[in-house]
Amino acid sequence: LYAGMVTSAASAIGDFWTEWMRTIGATDRVFDIITTATPEEPAQQTPLVLAGNVSFDNVSFAYPERSTQRALQHISFTVNAGEKVALVGSSGAGKSTIANMILGFYMPCEGCITFDNITMQPSNVKCVRDNIAIVEQEPSLFSGSIYDNIAFAVAGREVSASEIVKAAELANADEFIQRFPDGYHTVVGDRGVQLSGGQKQRIAIARALLRNPRILILDEATSALDSASEAKVQQALSTLMTGRTTFIIAHRYSTIVEADRILVLSDGHIVQHGSHTELMLQQQGLYFRLMVNQLAQNATAGQRIANAV
Ligand code: ADP
Ligand code: MG
Repeated sequence: LYAGMVTSAASAIGDFWTEWMRTIGATDRVFDIITTATPEEPAQQTPLVLAGNVSFDNVSFAYPERSTQRALQHISFTVNAGEKVALVGSSGAGKSTIANMILGFYMPCEGCITFDNITMQPSNVKCVRDNIAIVEQEPSLFSGSIYDNIAFAVAGREVSASEIVKAAELANADEFIQRFPDGYHTVVGDRGVQLSGGQKQRIAIARALLRNPRILILDEATSALDSASEAKVQQALSTLMTGRTTFIIAHRYSTIVEADRILVLSDGHIVQHGSHTELMLQQQGLYFRLMVNQLAQNATAGQRIANAV
């Protein structure tokens, strides 16, 4: 049923829809986005190949449907090509909004966002977005074959079977795909095979690899995958991040610690930034409190497991 809704929406909305689907492969947030989409120029444009530098210069933003409350306020930062940046903060702090703005699904109300010194605007947003991929926390696949689900990332150009397999191999997905009797033609979704969370994530990673983006956005899973899948997903993510500018909406201690830089958000503001060590030394700061809380939660979880044994 849901897939049917998506298809009819696709024909009604056209380009914007397909572009968004290709970027993220999602089916759940789309209706939101469609209603607030900025108009885009339909004209054919020459591809833009970015190095991957991203900066926010005094960006403020309020969602159109909540125009009195700003989701981001005076956000400024510069990320150099290839850098890994973790976005950290409580729920509602503005992490996903920053991701949405990088993808150009919304334009700033104030300030500007630049990519290699090119200011993003409605006229170039598509070209910019071609350089970006996002892997979501709970990637959604559409009803169809695994092959089509991966190929969808680049629906604008011809893609060979060997490219698909290569991407799946790098994403640690090939091994489980090959175990299905129908291999890459296995149908997933309502009428097909149910994949585990970790398998879906690896398909989403294969999709992102096929896009070969300069800029990557990862929305890290909050809850643990089963441990076998977890290691494979982590390994695939490291492959995907290599050499690419990466924004990670980070929940895990291990990811946060490894980021080159951390932006700490609270209530739409960047309240702290620096490396893990630098931030941990500021013991009056939000980052220190968030980390202490997380470690305490891990300890509680560890204690529960120990008690159960
Ligand atoms: P985070 O990802 O850090 O949890 P978000 O960026 O999703 O935070 O949210 C930042 C603020 O913007 C919150 O106050 C949230 O309620 C609001 N918000 C997020 N998405 C929307 C939306 N589509 N429409 C209106 N307000 C939104
Ligand atoms: Mg979020």
